[in-house]
Amino acid sequence: MKTIVMKFGGTSVADEERIADCAEFVRQTSETARVVTVVSAMGGVTDMLLELADAAAAGNRAVKYQLLSELRSRHERAAATLKCSETIGPLLDQLDTLVSGVAAVGELTARSRDAVVSFGERLSSVLSAAALDGRAMTGQEVGIVTDDEFGEAEPLMALSLYQVKETLQPLVERGEHVVVTGFMAATQHGVTSTIGRGGSDYTATILGAALNADEIWICSDVDGLMTADPRIVPEARLLEAISFEESLEMGQFGAKSMHPRALEPAAEHRISVRIRSTFNKDCPGTLIDEADAADHGPVRSVLMLKDCALLTIAGAAMVGRPGTAAKVFGALADAGVNIQMISQTVSEAGISVVVAGSQLARARAAVDAGLLRTKIARRVDVEEGVSVVAAVGSAMSGSPGIAAQVFSAVANEKINVESIAQGSSELSICFVVDGASGPSAVRALHRAFNLGG
Ligand code: ASP
Ligand code: MG
Repeated sequence: MKTIVMKFGGTSVADEERIADCAEFVRQTSETARVVTVVSAMGGVTDMLLELADAAAAGNRAVKYQLLSELRSRHERAAATLKCSETIGPLLDQLDTLVSGVAAVGELTARSRDAVVSFGERLSSVLSAAALDGRAMTGQEVGIVTDDEFGEAEPLMALSLYQVKETLQPLVERGEHVVVTGFMAATQHGVTSTIGRGGSDYTATILGAALNADEIWICSDVDGLMTADPRIVPEARLLEAISFEESLEMGQFGAKSMHPRALEPAAEHRISVRIRSTFNKDCPGTLIDEADAADHGPVRSVLMLKDCALLTIAGAAMVGRPGTAAKVFGALADAGVNIQMISQTVSEAGISVVVAGSQLARARAAVDAGLLRTKIARRVDVEEGVSVVAAVGSAMSGSPGIAAQVFSAVANEKINVESIAQGSSELSICFVVDGASGPSAVRALHRAFNLGG
């Protein structure tokens, strides 16, 4: 019998009806496979808990009260329908006590924030387990152990895989419906930790790797990965299968915002991941595995990141000076700016970086203080509101002429390309255009590579 890990995102478990529906999906799948379920918090609850923790620490009683009662009524209503009020009630009381503690101390550490935010998954796992007549377990209880970088804790992989297998395997073999909290785990000292936003995906692939599952299903509200965003390209199609490499490259563009490290355990242990929808169960979704892309065109998907800023840091002082790039990236990194794309020409007279528009002010301040004032660079040119467009596909690698095709398709639309980057892995070609031209560039590439079928 196959083993399948089914992970449900927040919209899939947003209320009692959705939870019952997911439970039905698990039951059907269990007829022919062993299933372990992983759940996110009910949609929106993680954000509410984060706000609640901040409000409590700041002494904002009105907001704290309002959020607590909203959380209470939403979970109590679901619990009444799913007949688990006797378990949900005490959990909500615990949350209350914890939040009062934060309010009393008037300060919020990363550690106590994790304790508060973990309630989203703790509550939803109890609700889902009730709907399934199964057993709710926390990430800690199944054996996921992390370091103590609260908020972004990293699982200690070898130990976690070993412990999860020891704990879960016997239960799964007995045919129990186990529902595991996504996102939350604990340190080696047993302190609650969380593994980063979107971390339930990561929990699912860790469980899949530990159990040597046949497939890991990431169930959410999208049918799967697409050849392009259908809001930009109406004839965009669902991708039936893509490789791990390609999906990692696509993930950067928020094609389906997965936890950035979630695919690692699956790729390493060669376990297929399927992205599918709980709102459209007949659709098999997109299979991510090692499949080679040989029978596909070179480009699989065309993606776009909008609202970006292009900074070009220039000056003759940079030419032939080892370490300049390190200083540029160091200055940005120290300011907490995430760089989305980099390019430099061999003349070395300038380095261009793309950052999210929301980080522009910060990036600019860092460049001013760290590079201009210290005369490492002479000038910085900034262009706001640009888009990064990327053509992604592993079969591009080693096949000549793809770049020519990409750029002539864009040139035919009379769109000016401002900066270009391609990694040596040749998994994607990325370029920057002004924001208004982004969608037409995406459509032009989608047409040029015949992705609409
Ligand atoms: N509930 C967490 C979040 O919203 C984890 C997850 O949904 O994967 O980020
Ligand atoms: Mg989520």
